[in-house]
Amino acid sequence: MAKKTSIRKVPPKIAGKLMFKSDSQCCVCQKKGDHIHHLAGRVSNDLDNLALLCYEHHNQASLTGTLSKKLSKEAIINYRDHHYKVIANKRQKALNAFRTPIFKLDEEILLTANKNAIIILEIAKIKEDFWEADWDNRAEILSNISKFSDHSNNRIAFEVFEFLEDITCQTRANMPYRMAIAIYFYILNFFPVFYYKKEKAKTMEIAHLAVHIGHNMAYDATIHLRNLAVAQVGLTVLKFMYRTAKQSEVPELIKMVNHAYDELERTLKRPERNDLENALELVKVFRNDLNEWDLAFPPLPKHLEDIVNIDCLK
Ligand SMILES: [Zn+2]
Repeated sequence: MAKKTSIRKVPPKIAGKLMFKSDSQCCVCQKKGDHIHHLAGRVSNDLDNLALLCYEHHNQASLTGTLSKKLSKEAIINYRDHHYKVIANKRQKALNAFRTPIFKLDEEILLTANKNAIIILEIAKIKEDFWEADWDNRAEILSNISKFSDHSNNRIAFEVFEFLEDITCQTRANMPYRMAIAIYFYILNFFPVFYYKKEKAKTMEIAHLAVHIGHNMAYDATIHLRNLAVAQVGLTVLKFMYRTAKQSEVPELIKMVNHAYDELERTLKRPERNDLENALELVKVFRNDLNEWDLAFPPLPKHLEDIVNIDCLK
């Protein structure tokens, strides 16, 4: 048997280090630790030889006279080293939280939120003026939204597209061709990019509105307004969405545009109307043109071109 070299009790400086590393917890059960245990007996006060334990686990570790201790030295070392890592990680995390510039981030978010709120209020005012005016003055009132295009984001674009959708619900109430063109122009200006994957859902909502806008215009202009020039613009909005969908690889959006076309064609074939042949032909010309990259109106047969030339003056 090796000579028993008992050493003095653990010096306060080392005890303090041990308490800190263990966060004052028993390394086995994480209850309050109150016994400093010497793993290899009282041969050394090195931290390697020490572990902080609670009363119960210290008892289990210290039982002698049995063939195997309930809590072996090796087990305590495993518990202890794991516990040290957990405590160290927790502390590092807390430090990292302070290093992350959360205050700067909050400031940016607040700034955007404030800017959005101001712009949304301004758009509400423009809407109010718009609905009080007649078509002669509406284009000019609507042009006030252009100044926000440089500050646009998904939130602002959503607001603008909702407004444009409301307007196109009134296509049948004599929407002039220049208003249709203005709406198309704002769609091109405000439609966001699909580039940011995490914002895709929001962009999809705006895309939905854009498809409705194109469909509303084409539907109302062919069925009710009988203005093929306005219908052309609605169909071009659909083409813009189709092109965007292909470019950004959004198959559900391609499906949506095709669905809008199916519905248009079905409606224009209704048996009780025999005056929709030209409109149906126009829709078919535009549908055949969907895969052409250019957003310019496709060339029309002479008889349709003559109608459009008259309608665009309305
Ligand atoms: Zn314990």
